[in-house]
Amino acid sequence: MLTILIEPNSILRTRCQEMTREEIINPATQKIIEEMIIAMRQANGIGLAAAQVGIAKRIIVVDQADGPQAYINPHVTDHSKQMVESEEGCLSVPGVWGIVKRFKKIRLKARDRQGRLQQLKATGLLAFVFQHEIDHLDGILFIDKAERLEKGDKATSEL
Ligand code: ZN
Repeated sequence: MLTILIEPNSILRTRCQEMTREEIINPATQKIIEEMIIAMRQANGIGLAAAQVGIAKRIIVVDQADGPQAYINPHVTDHSKQMVESEEGCLSVPGVWGIVKRFKKIRLKARDRQGRLQQLKATGLLAFVFQHEIDHLDGILFIDKAERLEKGDKATSEL
């Protein structure tokens, strides 16, 4: 079972590695994806990056209306000019939440768990989740960007 790392931890501050299609379809990677989905659900999160479970690869999982999806090598290709306030928490920074400015709309490219390239659009909460998780892949935490941090629990998005 995967354990979610808590800041401070050097893996949370690492730039994670891109994966080739061959690496993605490898059964070991498929198992990691399955276990990341389980870890995300057990923690009641709506997104999780591999770095958060100690794996420095560019893999994220996102819980969506149609079920959890994995995205590999995700990157933003275009975004709205407009930035909006996102109220966020992070499974790796428990007991803290904050306001982060995020792009309202993004376009991104990623590979799915079969290694196929896909293009996506995201807006609102889903756009915030992608931006938060992609930051994790570059060793960036929301507390680095937050304009205001508050202690305590709040009904906010745990990513
Ligand atoms: Zn997070």
